[in-house]
Amino acid sequence: MTPNIDPIIHIDEELCTGCRRCAAVCPVDAIIGEAGTPQRIDAHRCVVCGQCVQTCAAYAAESDPSLTSRAEKLRQRGQLSSVREPLFAAYSTGHAIELKEALADPKRYKVVQCAPVIRVSLAEEFGLPLGTLTPGKMAAALRLLNFDRVYDTNFGADVTIMEEGSELIGRVMSGERLPMFTSCCPAWVKHAETAAPHVLDHLSSCKSPMQMVGALVKTYSAELDGIAPADILSVAVMPCTCKKFEAGREEMNVDGLREVDMVITTRELAQLIKDKGIDFINLPDEPFDSPLGKYSGAGTIFGATGGVMEAAIRTGYELVTHESIPNLQLDFIRGDEGIRTATVQIGDLELKVAMVAGLKYVSSILEQVAGGTCPYHFIEVMACPEGCVSGGGQPKLLLETQRKSAYQARKSSIYRHDSNQKVRKSHENPAIIKLYKDFLGEPLGHTSHHLLHTKFFSRKVKGELK
Ligand code: SF4
Ligand code: SF4
Repeated sequence: MTPNIDPIIHIDEELCTGCRRCAAVCPVDAIIGEAGTPQRIDAHRCVVCGQCVQTCAAYAAESDPSLTSRAEKLRQRGQLSSVREPLFAAYSTGHAIELKEALADPKRYKVVQCAPVIRVSLAEEFGLPLGTLTPGKMAAALRLLNFDRVYDTNFGADVTIMEEGSELIGRVMSGERLPMFTSCCPAWVKHAETAAPHVLDHLSSCKSPMQMVGALVKTYSAELDGIAPADILSVAVMPCTCKKFEAGREEMNVDGLREVDMVITTRELAQLIKDKGIDFINLPDEPFDSPLGKYSGAGTIFGATGGVMEAAIRTGYELVTHESIPNLQLDFIRGDEGIRTATVQIGDLELKVAMVAGLKYVSSILEQVAGGTCPYHFIEVMACPEGCVSGGGQPKLLLETQRKSAYQARKSSIYRHDSNQKVRKSHENPAIIKLYKDFLGEPLGHTSHHLLHTKFFSRKVKGELK
């Protein structure tokens, strides 16, 4: 099964009023059109972040006979016929119909992974307060949907820290290709490829946690379960519309098989749960499966802006100094939309770091890199306003005033989940230690390079972008 990488974000011309609210939140000026007329999306420039989908408030009136029927619109959008929510003008391609069919196929071994923030936002779709934390109910619901294995992208986040942290230490020691940028946000990666290919050598070569889990599902986990990789359906539940694009990238395959066969958003998972009539609120908690379902607190905080940096510093500090980090909660890394910077003392090294939350803020740093004046060693970039908590595939917030409080509530839940974990550093996760001992060998080793690292390519079209 090949994921669809045709345009994933669309504007329905029948419904668009031309209010250009979407243009105001688009970080890359990809929305084209005059006010008061239906808008179009420049698919080349678009980074598939889905912020326009989150913001659009124009929807189809049930009673308007001049419009294409609701049933037909749902079909075109890849949404289940049982969906009751309004159909807005800006939308992302859905994969719930395809997934529902695949889940009914007894010949496939169906494996799912969930991004860190699904567990702090899914419950909102069932009327629970903003940011309600439900990892156990989510795992139970996924089993009722017919998944054979319920894994966790947080595990992949822990692997990312092992690989990316080792890469950073190597680059800082050699002084080469600094600053190093994170590469786990696919919208940021697409933007770098499209508008700033001069920084591609500066991106970490790590695949994202989602792709790492996908690669391990079809190798390590397949071996443990005695399942032929070709029989596995690898599904990811993501807060991010651009993850659909990332999964379809040609290079994201393991020995010719897709690492992630299908990506659905938080909203689509809620639709599938409702479609099956599952009483989500009253589900008893269930654990994730081993081994790719065991994660540390560091893996969990990837979902908030600054989370990758904080997780990397927890591990990097200990790998470099061979001492315990004095404080695990790095408040100076945490924050909201915009750019934050810090200097972290790691042994003799003064590590200069920057966290960019919101793609529109990255341009000044890109200019510094081009001019050779960038003072940072390590830069985290997340395209969405506050990281994955505010992703384009998250539950839609109809009231603009709700937005800030929702992001705050989701972030607080993530940090609470981290502080409640017994293991809060990626390199101390026993499942990660076992993965390296039994399968990968060492970070940046041969198997890691084959499965977990990649290359990025310029998509720049001459004369198209500044
Ligand atoms: S897509 Fe939605 S937000 Fe954008 S102009 Fe049309 S109606 Fe307004
Ligand atoms: S998905 Fe993001 S980049 Fe693409 S048009 Fe919408 S807001 Fe702009």
